[in-house]
Amino acid sequence: MVNIYKPENKTLPLIPLRGISIFPHMVIHFDVGREKSIEALEQSMIDDSLILLCTQINPKVDEPDKNDFYQVGTVAKVKQMLKLPGGSIRVLVEGISRGRIIDVNQEEPYFEVEIEDMIYDPEELEPNQDLEAAMRLVVEDLEEYISLNTKVSSEVLVSISDIDDPGRLADVISSYIFLKQEDNQKILEAFDFYERLEVLHGILQKEIELLKIEDKINQRVKKQINKVQKEYYLKEQLKAIQKELGEEDELSEDIEEYKEKIEKIKMPKEVKEKALKEIDRLTKMSPHSAEVGVIRTYLDWLVELPWNKETKEKVDIKKAREILDEDHYGLEDVKERILEFIAIRKLTNSMKGPILCLVGPPGVGKTSIAKSIARSLNRNFVRMSLGGVRDEAEIRGHRRTYVGSMPGRIISSIKKAGSKNPLFLFDEIDKLSSDFRGDPASALLEVLDPEQNTTFTDHFLDVPFDLSKVFFITTANTTSSIPAPLLDRMEVIRVSGYTDEEKLQISLRYLLPKQMKEHGLKNEQVIISQSAIKSIINYYTREAGVRNLERNIANICRKAAKRVVEENLSTVRINAGNLENYLGSKKYRFDEVEAKNQIGVANGLAWTAVGGETLSIEVTTMKGTGKIQLTGKLGDVMKESAMAGISYIRANSSMLNIEEDFYKEMDIHIHVPEGAIPKDGPSAGITIATAVISALSNTPIYRDLAMTGEITLRGRVLPVGGIKEKVLAAHRMGIKKVLLPNDNGKDLDEIPDRVKKKMEFVLVKRMDEVLKHALVKKEDINEDH
Ligand code: ADP
Repeated sequence: MVNIYKPENKTLPLIPLRGISIFPHMVIHFDVGREKSIEALEQSMIDDSLILLCTQINPKVDEPDKNDFYQVGTVAKVKQMLKLPGGSIRVLVEGISRGRIIDVNQEEPYFEVEIEDMIYDPEELEPNQDLEAAMRLVVEDLEEYISLNTKVSSEVLVSISDIDDPGRLADVISSYIFLKQEDNQKILEAFDFYERLEVLHGILQKEIELLKIEDKINQRVKKQINKVQKEYYLKEQLKAIQKELGEEDELSEDIEEYKEKIEKIKMPKEVKEKALKEIDRLTKMSPHSAEVGVIRTYLDWLVELPWNKETKEKVDIKKAREILDEDHYGLEDVKERILEFIAIRKLTNSMKGPILCLVGPPGVGKTSIAKSIARSLNRNFVRMSLGGVRDEAEIRGHRRTYVGSMPGRIISSIKKAGSKNPLFLFDEIDKLSSDFRGDPASALLEVLDPEQNTTFTDHFLDVPFDLSKVFFITTANTTSSIPAPLLDRMEVIRVSGYTDEEKLQISLRYLLPKQMKEHGLKNEQVIISQSAIKSIINYYTREAGVRNLERNIANICRKAAKRVVEENLSTVRINAGNLENYLGSKKYRFDEVEAKNQIGVANGLAWTAVGGETLSIEVTTMKGTGKIQLTGKLGDVMKESAMAGISYIRANSSMLNIEEDFYKEMDIHIHVPEGAIPKDGPSAGITIATAVISALSNTPIYRDLAMTGEITLRGRVLPVGGIKEKVLAAHRMGIKKVLLPNDNGKDLDEIPDRVKKKMEFVLVKRMDEVLKHALVKKEDINEDH
C-alpha cells in the first residue's frame, strides 16, 4: 500500500458527465448544455476555475440527482469556454487530481459538493520494486494493445516514456485507451498506485484478449472478402478488356444461348452437369484463348445430339411388305426373310437378338432395302461405310486433348440421323481392317451389343450415349472376311445377283422411271427401247447388280435431256443401233460362247465379291522340259489346285490316252484371261484339269459347256460355293450345259425356274464323268468339221 496523499477538503461546483470519464492529467474539451451544469461552470469561473467532474452512472438520465453520479470524480481546471450557437458551451478542461465527495451541499441551482481533494507530491515517492515491475507490465500491455488496436497511435508510447510517477502513468494510459465506463471508474477509484496499476493490467489483458479474438475474426472475414473481391475485380477487369476489344458481348451472348438450349432439350442428368461445367469454364475464359473454340465445339455437339429425340416406330408387316415391293423388283425370299425378322422383333419387343447382315455383290439393292425397312418402320436412316476403317478412333473419336479432335463416326452419324432410334446401316463390314491403332472390330462389337451399347462412350464426348434404341443393319460383299466374333452376332441374308431378264425388268420398272424423273424428263420425251437396255446390260456392264446399269441409264438421260433442250426435240429415241452415240463404243465383249469347239479351252465359273463370272481357261502345250507356267493373276489356292489336277493326269495318263512322259517333254502354259481381276479358290480345279487334258490329248471341249468344282489327287470332285451366281453368269454367257459337283445338287433350288428351263445341269462325282461330258465325242468332231 503506497499512500503519499495529502488530502485537502474543498467545496466545488459539480458537473455530471454523460458517457465520458476524465482522468487527472488529461486535457479535453466537451460541450455543456444542461442549465444546471452551465450554472456550475459559471460559479467555478467566479471562484478559482476548479470544478469536480463526476461520471453519471446512467448516461440517459437527463436530470440527475445526487445519487445518479459516482462518488469519485476528477477535480479539473477550466481552461477555456466558448459559447456555441443554441446556448450550449464548449469547455476545455485539464484534470488535476482525484476528488471524493464527502457531502452534497446543494442540488439547486447547481450541484455543490464537499470533497476530499486527493493531492500528493510525487517527489515524495520512494523507489519501490513492486511498483517498478507493475509499471513495466502495463507499458508492455500498452505496447501489445497498440499493436492490436489501430485506433490508438503508437506516439502514445513516446509520450508516456518519461513518466516516473506510477499513479500518473496509470491515469495517462487510461486516458489514451478506450475502456468501458465501469472500467474507467474502477481505475479512478483505485487511489493506491499499485492497486491502480494492477487494475489497469487486468483490464488491459482482458482488452488484449478481446482484440486478438476480434483480429482473428477480422482476418477470417477479410480473407473471404479478399477472395471474393479479387475474383470480382479480376472479372471486371477482364470484362473491361473484352469490351475494349469489342468481344465481350458475343461470347456472353453465346453462353446465354447454350444455357437456354441446355434447359430446353432434355439431356440425361450426367450430360447436363457436364455441359454446365464446361459453360462455367467458358465464362472464366478470355475469348482469345485457344480453348474457347475447343469448348464451343464440344458444347455444340452436346446440344445438337438427339439425347432424347425419337421417331415413333410403327411395325406393320402388311405396310412393310407394300413398301419393300414398291421399291424393289423380285428379291422374293429376301423380302420374306426381312419381314419375318421384323415380325419376330415385334413379337419379342426387343432390340436384343441378332443383327441383320445383308450379304451380296455391289449394286444388288442392299442399301436400298435397308432404306425401305427404315421407311416402313418410320425410323430415320443413316449409313456409315466401314470400308477401310482401320483406326478405332474413327469409331470412338479422339480425346479432347487432341487439337481439332472430333467425335467418332458413330456419334457423328447419330447427329446426322437426328433421332436416337434411327435405322443405322454399317456398309461393307467385311472391309473392316485392324492395325496398330487399335481394333475397330472390337469397338464395333461393343456398339452392336445390346448389353453394352446403352452406355456407349465416345472418347470426345466423354459422356455415355444410349445406342440401345438404334436398329443396326450391316452389309457385306462376302462373309468370309467378316471378323468371326461379329459374324456370330449376325443373321445373314444373302442377296444374290440378277439374271439379265431381272436386270431388264428392274431397268424398265425402277431405274429408268427414277432417272427420267431426276433429270426432269417426261415419259414421251425420251424413249429407250428394250433392245437398248439389253445392249447396255451385255456390252457396257459386267456386274451382278445393277449399279453400273443405273449409271449408264443416267448418262443416257443426261445426254437426252441436253438434246431435248438444245435441239428443241419433242422426243429422243434410243435403241441398240444408236446407243453408241450416247455411251461411246462398247466396253465389253459380250461373253459369248466360242463359235467353234476348241482344244485346250474350257469354261470355268468363278465367284468373286462382285458376283459370278465366267472364266475361260486356256492351255497350250509345247515341246520343252516339263515346266508348268500359270499366268493371269492366280492366287495360291488356285495354283495348288492346278498342280493337283496335273498330278491326277500324270497318275492316270494311260486311261486318259495321254503319253506317259508328257511331263518330261512338254511345257504346259495355263492362262486365265481378264488378268486384272485376281482369282483365287479351288473351284476351277476340274476346269483346269479338263483344259490340260484337252490340250494334251488334242481333243476339243464343247464350247457351250461350263463347269465348276474342286479336284482331288484321286480325281474326286468336291463341292464349291456361289452356285447361284455362277449359274447366272453361265446363263448370261449363253452356256447350255453346266457341270456341278454332286454335293452341290441342293443349291439348284435357288436358281430361278426361267434359267433352269434353258439349261442342263449335270451333277458329277468324279473327274472321268467330267471328261465324259466335256470332251467332244468322236462323232461330234466329224459333225463339227
Ligand atoms: P448395294 O447396297 O447392294 O451396293 P444399292 O442398294 O446401292 O446396292 O443399289 C444400287 C441401285 O440399284 C439403287 O438405285 C437401287 O434402288 C437399285 N436396285 C437394286 N436392286 C433393285 C431391285 N431389286 N429393284 C429395284 N431397284 C433396285
